[in-house]
Amino acid sequence: MQFNQINTLSVIQSDIKTINTTCAYCGVGCGVKATVTEVNQRVVTIEGDTEHPANYGRLCSKGSSLGETLSLEGRLLNPMIQGKEVSWTSAVNKIATDFKAIIAKHGRESVAFYVSGQLLTEDYYVANKLMKGYIGTANIDTNSRLCMSSAVAGYKRAFGADSVPASYDDFDHADLVVLVGSNTAWCHPILFQRIKAAKVQRPRLKVVVIDPRETATNEIADLHLPIKAGADVLLFNALLVKLAENSVLDQHYIASYTTNFEGAFAQANKNIGDITTLAARIGVDETALNTFFDWFCQTPKTMTCFSMGVNQSSSGTDKVNAIINCHLATGRVGKEGASPFSLTGQPNAMGGREVGGLANMLAAHMDIENPIHRQRVQRFWQSPVIAEQSGLKAVDLFDAMYEGKIKAVWIMATNPVVSLPNADKVRAALEKCELVVVSDCIANTDTARLADVLLPSLGWGEKDGTVTNSERRISRQRGFLPAPTLAKPDWWALSQVAQAMGFSGFDYQSPAEIFNEHARLSAFENDTVIASGLRDFNISGLAELSATEYDALQPIQWPVLSKEFQGTARLFAQGQFFTPNRLARFVPVTHRHPVNTPSLEYPFVLNTGRIRDQWHTMTRTGLTPRLLQHIGEPYAELHPIDAKKLQISVGDLVVVQSQWGKVIVRAQINEGQQQGAVFVPMHWTSVLSRQGRIGAVVNPVVDPISGQPENKHTPVVVSHFEAAWHGYLLSKEPLTLPECDYSVAIRIENGWRYELAHHQKPQDWIDWASVWLNQPQGERLEYQDIGLGMQRYAWLDEGRLSALAFFGAEVALPPRAWLMSLLNQPLDKLSRRALLSGKPADPNADVGNIICACFGVGQKTIERAVCQQNLKNVAEIGKCLKAGTNCGSCQPELQKILSRLISVAAV
Ligand code: SF4
Repeated sequence: MQFNQINTLSVIQSDIKTINTTCAYCGVGCGVKATVTEVNQRVVTIEGDTEHPANYGRLCSKGSSLGETLSLEGRLLNPMIQGKEVSWTSAVNKIATDFKAIIAKHGRESVAFYVSGQLLTEDYYVANKLMKGYIGTANIDTNSRLCMSSAVAGYKRAFGADSVPASYDDFDHADLVVLVGSNTAWCHPILFQRIKAAKVQRPRLKVVVIDPRETATNEIADLHLPIKAGADVLLFNALLVKLAENSVLDQHYIASYTTNFEGAFAQANKNIGDITTLAARIGVDETALNTFFDWFCQTPKTMTCFSMGVNQSSSGTDKVNAIINCHLATGRVGKEGASPFSLTGQPNAMGGREVGGLANMLAAHMDIENPIHRQRVQRFWQSPVIAEQSGLKAVDLFDAMYEGKIKAVWIMATNPVVSLPNADKVRAALEKCELVVVSDCIANTDTARLADVLLPSLGWGEKDGTVTNSERRISRQRGFLPAPTLAKPDWWALSQVAQAMGFSGFDYQSPAEIFNEHARLSAFENDTVIASGLRDFNISGLAELSATEYDALQPIQWPVLSKEFQGTARLFAQGQFFTPNRLARFVPVTHRHPVNTPSLEYPFVLNTGRIRDQWHTMTRTGLTPRLLQHIGEPYAELHPIDAKKLQISVGDLVVVQSQWGKVIVRAQINEGQQQGAVFVPMHWTSVLSRQGRIGAVVNPVVDPISGQPENKHTPVVVSHFEAAWHGYLLSKEPLTLPECDYSVAIRIENGWRYELAHHQKPQDWIDWASVWLNQPQGERLEYQDIGLGMQRYAWLDEGRLSALAFFGAEVALPPRAWLMSLLNQPLDKLSRRALLSGKPADPNADVGNIICACFGVGQKTIERAVCQQNLKNVAEIGKCLKAGTNCGSCQPELQKILSRLISVAAV
C-alpha cells in the first residue's frame, strides 16, 4: 500500500509566524494566537485572539498554558501492535483484516467506534461515514454522550432539530442570566468573565445560580437556589405555572409558533402544591423561590444556561424540556438577550453532532430512523449500505462488549476507562474484547494500556481542521508545529483503513476536501419541502471553499446559506422550527427522582464534575506544573456537619465507596456543600493515582431518551481511611507510582511530587524510599524521631537537592511549597540547615498553595500582602501581586481569602 504524503505544515514557514487557531479544551471555543519562536524545541507563545468573537482576547488558566503542553513528553510517536513498534502499513492492514474477519464471522453489529468531542469535524466526518455508510452499522458513539446528549434530545423534541438558538453576544444584552447546573466560573471561565463584565457595565443585570452546591460561580450570583439534586423539573414546571398565573405568557408566540402549550401546562400544574410545600420539596427558601419566580416573570431579556448538572441525569432530557417550555411560553427564544442556552462541555461536541457522531443520528443533522434521510445520505455518499437503525449508545456499547457482543472497537481521542460510569466494568469489557484499537497522541493512558493496536495521532498545534463551539460558531483549528515522527491525522488513519477494507470514497488528500464534502452534504436536498426534511444544519455557503479560502476561514455561526452570508447569530425569534409543521413543541414533563437513592448502607449522594485548572483525564493539563499547583490531588468535598459526624478533618484521607467501586481521596470541607452530599472531581486516572478514578464509583444509570449517564447522583458511603503512615516524595525524574493505598503523582516545576499513605509500615524506611526513588545518589541527610513516627531523608547531588522523602504517623506533614521550590536547586547554608525541618528560615520564602495559576501566586503570599498592606479588594490584590489579572479564574478565591481575613480582623 502506498501512503500519500500529507502536508500538515502548509501554514508553517521558516520565519517566526503567528497563527490564529482555537483552544483545545472547553466548548467556549476561544480564539488563540500561537507564535512559534523555536520550531525544533517546540517553543510557542500563546495569547488570546482579540478578534475572535468567543473570547475577544481573553484566555482562562487552561487556555493560557496551552504552550506548556506541546513538548513530546509522553507522546505516542509510532504505530504499535501488542506493544511492538510497527509500520503504518502493518497497523492499517491488521485493523482492516481483523475488522473484516470479525464482521464476516459475527456480523457488522459486532464492531464499534467510540470517538470524542476532541476530534476535529473532519476526523469525525470520516469516522461516521465509514461506520454508517460502509461498514453499515450505527455502532459509533462519542464521549459527547456523557456531556450534552440530553441537551440534544431536548432541543430535538422541542425544536425538531439540535439547534442552539442563541449567541454569546446575548449575554451583553440580557437583564437576567439563570445558570442551572453549571459551575460556569470553573467550567466555562471565559463566558463567566463575560457575564461578570456585563454585570459591571449594566448593574441591572441579575444572575441566578441554581445548583445544589455553592461554587465559585456564586461570586456573581444575586440569588442562589441550592436545590435538592434532581429537583430541576419540579422547579421549572412550577415556573411555567407562575408565568401563567402572572399573565406573562407570550400568547402571540404560543399561538403562532408552538403546539401543545395546554398539555405541558396541565402536566406542570398537576403536582405543584402551595408555595411552602413546593419550596420544601425543591429544598430552597420560600422567599428565595418567590424572588426567582418574580425576576423571571418580570424580565423579558432572560438567558437560561444549562450544563452538566442538568444533562447528566436520568431525567436530563425532561429537565432540558422543562427549561425550554418556560422560554417558549414567554417567547424568549432566539431574541436579543433571551434564549435557553446549552453550554457545551467539549471543544467540538457540536461539530460531532453536525456530522452525526452520536449513535442515534445521521450526518448533517439527519435522522437515522427516517428512511428518506437514510436514502438521501446513502445517495450522497454513493455508499454500498447505510445503517438501518440506531446503534449502541456509550454505556450500552461497553455493556455489549462486556457480554461479548462487540468484538472489535476503535477508540479515538478519549479515555473511557476513566470517564465512563462503572469504569471498572469498562476496563473489564476492553480486556475481553478481541480487537481494541486506540488512536491517541498520548502513549500511556488507562485505555491505551488495553490496546492491541495503538495509532499515533496528531496533537493540538499539529492538526488542522474545524471545530464548532456552544454558539454554533465554526472556527479553524490550525497546525503550527510539524507532525512528530509518525503521528498522523485521524481522518488519514480512518481513510487508509477504509481503503484497505476495499471501500472507495476515502481518497481524501486534505481536511479542506473533507470539509467541502461535509458542507455539500449539509446542503444536499435541503432547500425544498419540509416533509422531506428541511434541516437546520446548512453550511452550503462554505461548500465550495478553495484550499486557500478554507485556510483563511474566519469564525462563523451556522447556518451559512451563501458565500456572502455572515452567519446566523440567532434562530427562531419568528418561529420557523424544524418540525414537520414548523411549530415548536411544548413537551409535558413530570418530576422524577434520581434512579438510585441513598440508603442506610450508602447514605451520601456523590456528585462529580470538573475543577478549575484541569481538563478531562489530565493527559495534557496534567503535564503542566502550574495547572497542578492549585489542586494537585483528587479530593472529596464534604459539609462541615457531615465531616464532624464522620470525624474527618481537612486533609484526611477518605474512602468514597458505592456498590460499583471505590476511591481513596483527600478530604476537603466546605459549607457550600449540602449535608448528605459529597463532590469528587472527574479527572484523576490510574496513571496519576492508585485509587482516584471516580468513574469506577459512578452508577451506570442513564436517561432513557438521551442515554446520558447520571454522573451527578450515585449513592455512596464515606469513611475515614486509617493509614499507618503518610508521606511524600520529591524527585527530579518521574517514578513508577509507588504501591500504596493512596499514591498520587503531581508534576511540579523541577520534577515530580508523590503523595502517599498506606495501611502498613515498611520494614525499613530508607530501603523502601530508595527503591521507589530509583536509588538516588549523593550525600544523604536524615532525621528520625521514632517516638513521633517521623522519618525524613534528603539527597544532595553536588550541593543540589535531588530527592526527598518525608514520612510521619500523622497526616500533617511539613508544607510542600518551599521544599518543592528547592528541588534541583543549589542549597545555601540556611536552606540546608532548615531542609529537614521543612520550614524555611525566612518565613516569606513559603508562598503556600498556589491560588493564581497564571502568575504562581500562593495563598500565604496573598494573606501576607492583604494584612501587611491593608488591601481591601480583589483589584488591589491584583495591583500588588498581579494575582487574578490575567484569566481571572482565581478571582472568586481571592475574594474568599479577602472576606475571611477581613472578618477575622473585624472580630
Ligand atoms: S474558556 Fe478556557 S478552556 Fe475554554 S476555550 Fe476558552 S481558554 Fe479554552
